[in-house]
Amino acid sequence: MATYVYKFTEGNKDQKDLLGGKGANLAEMTNLGLPVPPGFTITTRACRHYLDHGTMPDGLDAEIEENLAALEREMGRELGQHDDPLLVSVRSGARFSMPGMMETVLNIGLNDESVQGLARQGGDERFAWDSYRRLVQMFGKTVQDIDGELFEEAIEQVKAEKGVTDDLDLDAGDFRALVDRFKAIVQQETGSPFPTDPREQMRQAVRAVFDSWNAPRAVLYRRQERIPTDLGTAVNVCSMVFGNLGMDSGTGVAFTRDPATGQQGVYGDYLQNAQGEDVVAGIRNTVPLTDLADIDARSYDELMGIMETLENHYRDLCDIEFTIERGKLWMLQTRVGKRTAAAAFRIADQLVDQGMITLDEAVQRVTGDQLAQLMFPRFDEKAAARDQAHRLGRGMNASPGAAVGKAVFDSYTAIKWSRSGEKVILCRRETNPDDLEGMIAAEGILTSRGGKTSHAAVVARGMGKTCVCGAEEIDIDTKNRRLVAPGGETVEEGDVISIDGTSGEVFLGEVPVVDSPVVRYFENEIDPASDEADDLVRAVHRLMHYVDAARRLYVRANADTPEDAARARRMGAQGIGLCRTEHMFLGDRRQLVERLILADTRDEQDEALEALLPLQRSDFNGILASMDGLPVTVRLLDPPLHEFLPDITELSVRVAVAEARGESHENDLRVLQAVHRLHEQNPMLGLRGVRLGLVVPGLFTMQVRAIAQAAADRIREGGRPRPEIMIPLVGTVQELEIIREEALRVLREVGEENGVELDFPVGTMIELPRAALTAGQIAETAEFFSFGTNDLTQTVWGFSRDDVEASFFSAYLEKGVFGVSPFESLDVDGVGRLVRIAAEEGRATRPDMKLGVCGEHGGDPASVHFFHEVGLDYVSCSPFRVPVARLEAGRAAA
Ligand code: PEP
Ligand code: MG
Repeated sequence: MATYVYKFTEGNKDQKDLLGGKGANLAEMTNLGLPVPPGFTITTRACRHYLDHGTMPDGLDAEIEENLAALEREMGRELGQHDDPLLVSVRSGARFSMPGMMETVLNIGLNDESVQGLARQGGDERFAWDSYRRLVQMFGKTVQDIDGELFEEAIEQVKAEKGVTDDLDLDAGDFRALVDRFKAIVQQETGSPFPTDPREQMRQAVRAVFDSWNAPRAVLYRRQERIPTDLGTAVNVCSMVFGNLGMDSGTGVAFTRDPATGQQGVYGDYLQNAQGEDVVAGIRNTVPLTDLADIDARSYDELMGIMETLENHYRDLCDIEFTIERGKLWMLQTRVGKRTAAAAFRIADQLVDQGMITLDEAVQRVTGDQLAQLMFPRFDEKAAARDQAHRLGRGMNASPGAAVGKAVFDSYTAIKWSRSGEKVILCRRETNPDDLEGMIAAEGILTSRGGKTSHAAVVARGMGKTCVCGAEEIDIDTKNRRLVAPGGETVEEGDVISIDGTSGEVFLGEVPVVDSPVVRYFENEIDPASDEADDLVRAVHRLMHYVDAARRLYVRANADTPEDAARARRMGAQGIGLCRTEHMFLGDRRQLVERLILADTRDEQDEALEALLPLQRSDFNGILASMDGLPVTVRLLDPPLHEFLPDITELSVRVAVAEARGESHENDLRVLQAVHRLHEQNPMLGLRGVRLGLVVPGLFTMQVRAIAQAAADRIREGGRPRPEIMIPLVGTVQELEIIREEALRVLREVGEENGVELDFPVGTMIELPRAALTAGQIAETAEFFSFGTNDLTQTVWGFSRDDVEASFFSAYLEKGVFGVSPFESLDVDGVGRLVRIAAEEGRATRPDMKLGVCGEHGGDPASVHFFHEVGLDYVSCSPFRVPVARLEAGRAAA
């Protein structure tokens, strides 16, 4: 029974945790009878042991030896055998794909003797010596940590001595000389000769792949993609096949559907007489896969058949790496492929049409984050057309979206400028894994070389970042920090350019953007049954229709104006979960609030409140009208009063200046005194929320009266207002009891005045740990709970929500304290535990209690799944997140 090593014939696609994605899928293809070069996989279990203990687990060496011996028997050749060597590749392959982030070593088994055997067997001395120098170079760089530049310089020297510029002009003798130079570099840099024992080469390569799990770029990539840090990688040892044995050989990448658009067809790139790394690195320009039909019809037909088999088997888009060795096709890798957001929706929809998957499965193939991407604005086609004069050129539409920013030509500048708030477009000839940080910092990426499967394209698609690649007609001159368009226009570093990842076009200057058709569909501007709706809109419509029926959670919106409420409703909101009334106290009304705060007598206070009442009433009337028939949770005033007064420094200066000039400044002085009186060291923990309601007489009463009068007006107008009155920052049931009693009195009073019944629920926010822990008591009085997870996160962690993200969160994220800010995605273990306790204990007291959430987490995909699981009734989020929350609520329930 294997512990640490599995032959390709022993695994299957469901063992990704153990065999990594690549290993599991190689096993699956082997078992499907597809042509996979034989090999075996060293498991992630072995890697985790190595990473934990710094040593290989006992028994691993023996298992590797046993499997290698079996491989040698099967191939009829020994690793590094002098007259006819078996060569192997040693490749990383983790649970989640991390393109180009970890190490690979090819051609293991070559040394001074076996290179002769390879030359004889391959009938090609140049190829053999080229393969050998590649091994020394790759091994030196990745296993022995030698600066890759040293090898590159040696190549340049040999070329210069010979007076040529292209690798293709080097012959067997030149590569042989290069091997000597490379070996000298290894000796010089490590103090030891290059290891010629093939088994020793393999041992060291395996260890290097394990180590590469913790390479800085891999760590950064995992953080960005939220991949757990403790999974480890598997290692695949695979017999080598060669795509660089002549023009009847080659290597390529294929997709069963277009990963950029989702359209069905033949997509991919092929490169004759090349090894796999050459394609992915985008170093040489490839030809479209369809050209393979002319180059090698037999292999092409076989590949098409295999692609069909794989798609039917995986029931999804597959991406494939293959090599043709002298007319024989070999499959080197497959996996369910990364795709853009639009492709994800289209493919899910197509597969349902083709009867390959159910709608239940289809909604698991798309995510809220992808939907959010489809809602980003895009370039105005008309403006882009008008702007042909400013069109610099076109490349491949590698990852869609509209990106505008200043052109920068290296990652360091991209990072530096973006930190100072600039939007930048990273322009490179091609990218490599060291550019990852710069790509993250940039709005978009432009390259002049490489196809849709180049590093830049794959990584950008994974990140949902706009990318135009392979814009060959544009000369990207990183040395001089500028690019030159075919028309001669020059863009210097810092000039603004716009790149369109949907069309592949590049423009000088800023191209205006317009709403995406998906937003126009949500806004009811596009009828999904009309001609105006394209297949993407139809796919979104179909899946949204399905999730709306499947989900248990209701989705409401956070909105404070009739316009926002109306938009939210169009986006599918089923009510308002949070109307923040403080937003109604700003602008011109600030003065009225100032009067309230400055009032010396009860009469003055009442007067100020009296003046605010009609304004509030008309606000509520508009919102209740927009949401007629649906619940509208109105939260009474929350922030500390000083927020409505002028800034203390400005005011002090004004008073001091007036005093010095002997001018009258009585009012300013009064305000300044009030600012001082209300000043708090820690206002977020001070006089705010329910505390204001208890301390400032008449304030909450006025607000409840305004709600009640607006509702009475609506009823008289024939509407069906459903306000819910919500009290913020409650810590104990006693606070709530006092406010609630007063609220019920006002509702009764206004109801009697208007001859209508105003029976509206009064509930509370749960945003303090004490409220969550005493939820059973609070539920005696509260008719509903709404979790204010912004404040709850702030108070549970003791993190100031206004400060920490800008101060030390980047350090926390870097050190891996958490993978994502708890203000962005709910901290399930801490804050979530309190939510669970409060939900359970609240319902124990009041079984039919309505529970919702109105913090930012209401629109966060992962958090929505948690709220579904703990049994809340609804989530509430900003209007634009409503479709995302609907989709995720449906996915959680499906
Ligand atoms: C909250 O605290 O989660 C909340 C919704 O209220 P606010 O953000 O207005 O404090
Ligand atoms: Mg709050």
